[in-house]
Amino acid sequence: MSDPKDRPTEDPLEMVNGACLDIDTDPEVLSLRPERLDEYIGQDEIVETLQIAIEAAANRKEPIDHVLLHGPPGLGKTTLATIIANEMSGDLTITSGPALEKGGDLIGILTHMDEGHVLFVDEIHRIPKTVEEFLYPAMEEFSVDFIFDKGVHARSHRYRLNRFTLVGATTRVGLLSAPLRDRFGIFRSLDFYGEADLVKIIRRSASLLKVQIDNPGAAELSKRSRGTPRIANRLLKRVRDYTQVRADGVITRETVAAALALEGVDEMGLTHLDRRYLKTILKYYKGGPAGIEAIAAVLAIDRGRIPPTINLENPDPDCDLDYVTEGFRQKEVGAALTNSFGFGGVNATLAFTRFSQ
Ligand code: ADP
Repeated sequence: MSDPKDRPTEDPLEMVNGACLDIDTDPEVLSLRPERLDEYIGQDEIVETLQIAIEAAANRKEPIDHVLLHGPPGLGKTTLATIIANEMSGDLTITSGPALEKGGDLIGILTHMDEGHVLFVDEIHRIPKTVEEFLYPAMEEFSVDFIFDKGVHARSHRYRLNRFTLVGATTRVGLLSAPLRDRFGIFRSLDFYGEADLVKIIRRSASLLKVQIDNPGAAELSKRSRGTPRIANRLLKRVRDYTQVRADGVITRETVAAALALEGVDEMGLTHLDRRYLKTILKYYKGGPAGIEAIAAVLAIDRGRIPPTINLENPDPDCDLDYVTEGFRQKEVGAALTNSFGFGGVNATLAFTRFSQ
């Protein structure tokens, strides 16, 4: 495909990926995070729910109910946990489901928390089952049960915890067990942000970064941010650098367009790979329908890239299959197979080969 837009200068997928990357942990980027509820832009219904819950809990001198936040990465779940801790004047501990490998990891955190502490557990759906069971009494009765010895000699000791608030975040709410989900008093889903809210977020971030941006510039940037504040802030930083070096320091529609053309991000926030997906649907499948696996197979052949096998963290040393585990592998691909194993006996295998005349 010869469209110059399809040729990026570096990996643009990173720029428009909502997940937290190394560049997002830069202190300058972290300083853009709103600290109070009145600085948090958009998600009006969630903000109102939290405002009421926080005020009512403060009046009762109690911590607020446990909160479960659901939504794609980069929409502001961690930010809300930080805000809840600030508004309740409580300390905040941030951890994640995969980091809590054993019951002891969780108990160590719980037993060191003061009254009103906020515990934020990101990717809470990935918490191991054995650890999850310690959370139930902790969330419900603010206590944990220590078990000593095994079998008939087993004894348990109940340890009282200070009252705390658990804020859980998940991108996959369907993977959360019902007993855990039911223990949250407040459950809210975050939506992608509309253009008007993104413009406000971009203007706020620009003023914190001490860079000028005009209205058309902010509107243009918001259109390319895929409804995600994290992406908006990331793109803003790139455009700021470009504007300072190649223009007069004020971000305008023209500098946004020029800076993001260099990043391979188009006017709709699409990268060269997104455009290739769409072109594949258009060209090979005449507008669809097309399964995602079929698209992946055709792209592997077209680009000569074998995609990695996901979730293969501990390969079996006795298995001599040549798995691709970390990142893709560049290799000429002549043919690709996709297998779907359906429950109830509906299995399908599709074979794709390069077309040659
Ligand atoms: P998540 O935890 O959902 O992945 P974060 O809370 O880390 O997302 O948000 C990513 C960044 O986006 C934050 O550092 C913050 O600067 C910005 N952000 C998110 N939501 C908002 C918002 N509502 N208003 C302003 N900035 C926001």
